[in-house]
Formats: sequence, C-alpha cells, structure tokens
Amino acid sequence: SDVTKSDIEIAQEAQTLPIAEVAKRAGVPDAYLEQYGTRKAKVDYNLLRDHAHKPGKLVLVTAINPTPAGEGKTTTTVGLGDALARAGKKTVIALREPSLGPVFGIKGGAAGGGYAQVVPMEDINLHFTGDFHAISAANNLLAALIDNHIHQGNALGFDVRKVSWKRVVDMNDRALRDIVVGLGGKVNGFPRQDGFDITVASEVMAVFCLATDINDLKERLARMVVGYTAADEPITAGQLKAEGAMCALLKDALKPNLVQTLEGTPAFVHGGPFANIAHGCNSIMATRMALALGDYAVTEAGFGADLGAEKFLDIKCRLTGVRPHAVVVVATVRALKMHGGADKASLGQEDLAALEAGLPNLLQHVENVTGVFGLPCVVAINRFPTDTDAEVALIAERCRELGVNVALSNVWAEGGAGGAALAAEVIRLCEGEDAPELSFSYELDQPLRQKIEAVAKRIYRADGVTFEARAAKELDKLEQLGFGHLPICMAKTPASFTDDASRVGAPRGFSVTVRDVRVSAGAGFVVVLTGSIMTMPGLGKSPAAERIDVDETGRISGLF
Ligand code: ADP
Ligand code: MG
Repeated sequence: SDVTKSDIEIAQEAQTLPIAEVAKRAGVPDAYLEQYGTRKAKVDYNLLRDHAHKPGKLVLVTAINPTPAGEGKTTTTVGLGDALARAGKKTVIALREPSLGPVFGIKGGAAGGGYAQVVPMEDINLHFTGDFHAISAANNLLAALIDNHIHQGNALGFDVRKVSWKRVVDMNDRALRDIVVGLGGKVNGFPRQDGFDITVASEVMAVFCLATDINDLKERLARMVVGYTAADEPITAGQLKAEGAMCALLKDALKPNLVQTLEGTPAFVHGGPFANIAHGCNSIMATRMALALGDYAVTEAGFGADLGAEKFLDIKCRLTGVRPHAVVVVATVRALKMHGGADKASLGQEDLAALEAGLPNLLQHVENVTGVFGLPCVVAINRFPTDTDAEVALIAERCRELGVNVALSNVWAEGGAGGAALAAEVIRLCEGEDAPELSFSYELDQPLRQKIEAVAKRIYRADGVTFEARAAKELDKLEQLGFGHLPICMAKTPASFTDDASRVGAPRGFSVTVRDVRVSAGAGFVVVLTGSIMTMPGLGKSPAAERIDVDETGRISGLF
C-alpha cells in the first residue's frame, strides 16, 4: 500500500468489476437489477417480497465520541466487510449516502478512506443515482401544496405563523435559513416567514430510511405533521392528499443502490438522515437487502455510540425488528488523547498519559453496549500513521486487563488484509445462530419525560434532566395529542456524553438540559433538542468546493 496517496487517487486507480458481476456474485437475480451505467445499480425491493430468505448476521459499527474530522467508522465498516469476505464469509455492507452539503463544506466525501473505500467515490459523493434530488422534490411538492392550499381558501385552517413544514435543498446555504415567501401581491399567495433545511435534515429523509415498503412509506408520509391550526390542532400531509404523489416521486429512490468496495465486496449505499434531528443510519431497505444477500451484513451508525448506536438500537431496531449479532466500537489514539485532555493541535505527538486519561470515554461506550443493550462488543483501534507502537499497545493492554475485547485495525493502510484480527473477533462474537436478546434503554409505554431521563442517566450517566419551560409545555402537548408512545430521538452534540461539546472524557455530576421537543410523526419519533441544532449548515471561509474540479476527460479531483 502507498499511504501517501489521497483517497480519490486510490479510488481512481482501482480495478473494479462490472456492477452486474458484483450483483451476480451477491446473488441478485438479473430481473431485479437496474443498472445506472456500468458501476452503479439499484436493486428492486420486490426481491425481498418475492424470495424467501434467511437473514444473515448483522454487525453494527459505532465509535467513541469523535473529533470533528471523524474517527473512521465508515473506513472501518468497509475494511471489516472486506476482511470478512477474505475470511470466506459472504458479506454485504450497508452505508449512508453522503450529502452535498458536507462534501462541498469541510468533509469532502464520505465513502471510507485509504484502502477501505466504496467506489465510484466521485459518483457516490456527487448526485449518485439521484435519490437526494428525488427526496428534495417530494419534500418541496408538499411545501408547494401547503402554500397553494392556503392560497385557495385554507379549508384546513392553517395558522400561517405555525406552518412547520420547510422547503429543502441539499446544500450548505445559510442565506436560506430564514426567508419570507409569498411576497408580490395577491396572485402570489399569502406572505409568511419560511426557511430551508438541508435535504438530509428533512423528515422525508428520515421516513424514507425507516420505511419497510412502498405502503409503509405512503402511510408514514401521510402521518407527517406539517403545521397547526389557530387552536393548535395538527394538520398532516395526509389531509392535503400529498402522500400518493410524494411516494410516486420516491418509488425508484427507495430501491437500494449497489456499489462495490476497492476489493469487490458488494455494498449498498442508501439514504442519509442527519444523526442529530434524525436517527442517522442508512435505509432499512438497504440493511434488509444486505441481510438477505449476505451471511454477514456490516453497517454503520452516525456519530458516537451515545447517539448513533443508541438510536440505531432504540429506534431502528425496535421499529423494524432487525437485531445485531455484534457491535464494533471504533476508537482512535488521537480522539482518546483529546478525551484525556490533550490539546487539539498536539494530537499527532505521542502522549501516553493523555491516552490513558482518555480511556474512560471508550470504556463507558463499551459498558453501554454490553451492559445496557446486552450485546457482544469488540473495540477496533483504527490505526493512524501518526500513532506510535507504544500508544496502540497501551490501549490494547488496558482493554485486555479490563476484559474488553480488542483488535487492531489497519484497514485504512492495508484494506481487508489489515482487518484480519478484527474480522476473526467479529466472527467469534457472531458464533450463535440467533442474534442475542436486545435490551432497550427505555420502554415505549414510559412517558416521554421518563424515556429522556432513562437515556440521559443510563447512556450519558447524567444525574438528571432539566426541562426548559418551552420543552415542558411541548412535552405536555405531545402527550395529550397521543404521541407519548413514540420512541425519542436525541439531538445532542456528538463531541461529548454531556450536552456541552467542551466536556470530554466520561464526565459525572452533570445535568442535561432539554430546550425543545418536536414530533416527527411520520418517521415515528419525538425529537429531543438539547442545545441549538443546525438544520441548515453554512459553508466555512475556505469551503472544500474551492478545491474540487473536473478535467476535460471528465476526471474529478479534490474530493477526499
Ligand atoms: P466517520 O465515518 O467516523 O466519520 P470516516 O471513515 O469517514 O469517519 O473517516 C474520516 C476521515 O479520516 C476520512 O478522510 C478517512 O480517510 C480518514 N481516516 C480514517 N481512518 C484513517 C486512518 N486509520 N488513517 C488515516 N486517515 C484515516
Ligand atoms: Mg461515516
């Protein structure tokens, strides 16, 4: 391997198989394969309806609280998939689709890294098969129907100050956060304050990712609350008769996208809800398809395990019935040093004291996975070129002393070959035929406040929860409206177990403050907002877009 090459250089040099060949090896019958050129395809969801299958074993990849750059969950997911394939296991990967916002903002891509990537990474990062455009169109159709309904006489009685449905675009564009629509006189409708969210923050995206089939998608879309009357009665998309046409726009998007890793392992890349105001993992369609085709399915949940894995398990697994056999917690030397108090600027230098001081963060995540959710767990140390042997050895040693399963992962530098130890451990943890019994961190019949307290105390280890006046009022209202039985979707900083991004490690003696709550009735959860949550990001001073280009042959550069 050559670790001086950029991700896109490695990806563009890859010898890939025709996607039809990848599909054939994965066991997708020709009739269900819809090719988008030679390297991408969609697989018809009717495959799941028409063919009985025994689902494979699901492996969930999550992480410690990350540094802003990401700790390598996607990279580890892809590398583990390749390593399991090398170990002779029929493996299929399931990942989220990247959003154009972060691609042109800071992150520059989300298809793995180094020698553990899915390809074609340029396509995956830019437009891909058009799913996000379809989701934007469906969302904006509903927005147009709302304003038209008000213009045509407002029979449902919208209070124009309480239209909660927003328009979306898949771009970081802060100028659209707060706008006024309907200016220009009578023929242009009623003026009202409005705003755009980024597409991946839309409820349509969350609904899309939780929908188990077309009918379920339609029912969820119909249930979405789009605004309120003057008397605070909710108005739904179903009352506007929007769900049929929205679903028609989404019917092809709902088919999971098939691509391959650098080593030819099949991977579904499908759906990409935000991990804060939504649950943050790929579509259930893609997860089910990966489980149907693979003996092993490896998937990723966004952010750290306190948010991503909690919501994967408490929301997605509960609502759909899928159950992981094992969980991988990705840890990096640099993030652990940060949790141990090291300065962000010096994470590249050996610092055994800071590393040791940061370990409680990792251990709390492991305890949550095994103790709260009852799942077997292995720590994957995602090795970076700057890590010293002494640092890597220290984490492994401490984990072993505490009885925590641990494996070094070198998939970024070596591809699947660098994941042999991790794959062996995962295979060992997955030995049982049936998935282990999954415990949830709360039960659905608890009141919303108790569910929030359960997550705060059991997962974050807070002493308690403070509900600000607005949140308390909304919680009462949602209970009254009959939404009290829904699971909760915590929106919190990914950087800390607390709601304060600066508190690293494994803090104790803190309280979590809930500022507001809102219902996503179609997705089927109540979003709990701690701190201020951005649903339309902005671009930085020097956005990644300034460095992205294409040459006369159509070759893209600047994605990484
Ligand atoms: P996550 O999914 O946790 O956000 P990614 O897998 O997308 O993280 O990785 C974030 C970035 O870090 C990517 O640019 C990737 O290439 C890089 N990266 C991941 N693992 C390593 C590693 N072991 N060494 C060097 N860079 C890495
Ligand atoms: Mg990722």
